[in-house]
Amino acid sequence: MEDAFSHALGLARDARRIEVFTGAGMSAESGLDTFRDAQTGLWTHVDPVAMASVGSWARDPEPMWAWYLWRAQKCRQVEPNAGHRAIAEWAGLPDTTVTVTTQNIDDLHERGGAEDVVHLHGSLFDYRCTICSRPWRGQVEFPAEPVDRLAPPECPLCGNLIRPGVVWFGEALPEKAWARAEARMESADLVIIVGTSGVVQPAAALPLLAVQRGTPVIEISPEPTELTRFADVSWRTTAARGLPELVLGLTLG
Ligand SMILES: [Zn+2]
Repeated sequence: MEDAFSHALGLARDARRIEVFTGAGMSAESGLDTFRDAQTGLWTHVDPVAMASVGSWARDPEPMWAWYLWRAQKCRQVEPNAGHRAIAEWAGLPDTTVTVTTQNIDDLHERGGAEDVVHLHGSLFDYRCTICSRPWRGQVEFPAEPVDRLAPPECPLCGNLIRPGVVWFGEALPEKAWARAEARMESADLVIIVGTSGVVQPAAALPLLAVQRGTPVIEISPEPTELTRFADVSWRTTAARGLPELVLGLTLG
């Protein structure tokens, strides 16, 4: 029987328009916590509802602003891993387009060299006005240590508070990002799912758009996931091991 690597490499060799769909496992080997990991997840220490709901923001924004800036700072302190870099290297191969749709709010894909990244759940490095929604590009001072409270800046246009540009519980995903992700899933001739549990909806439904069209799907995940049954190949490895191995295989021809 053909092993998962050989099967994945065969599919990758035939593909010209690759969409990589990533979740928290993509960033884990860079040292960023996996939110849904019950033992080590960042959210075992804080109440996710308190830190990711628009109601909490309306009641008391300062703890949330402090927490998101701290997370952004933690992200700045880690580096993209070999998996992030392999995706960028793949995109540099001749006659190949590789784009990324991520559920992650870190910027490790971009720092790893990816040039076309859709952030379904927003970014730790985007900010906008709570009320008028205008993007805010002021100077952010990231805290060197975790702090309980920080005052958010005010919108220069309407005077209301600037909020993190991430998607909170109960909020719709950003429309443009979603539309781009859908179009890419539908035009891809190969989809690679990396490091996502497949339980966060509606994002987890995106790869099914490719499955419905008969597009081959490779899953790279150390454990079986909700998406495993839809994948043509489910390769039990990690992002930082599997992706470089795959791209090396492609470059060796
Ligand atoms: Zn405003």
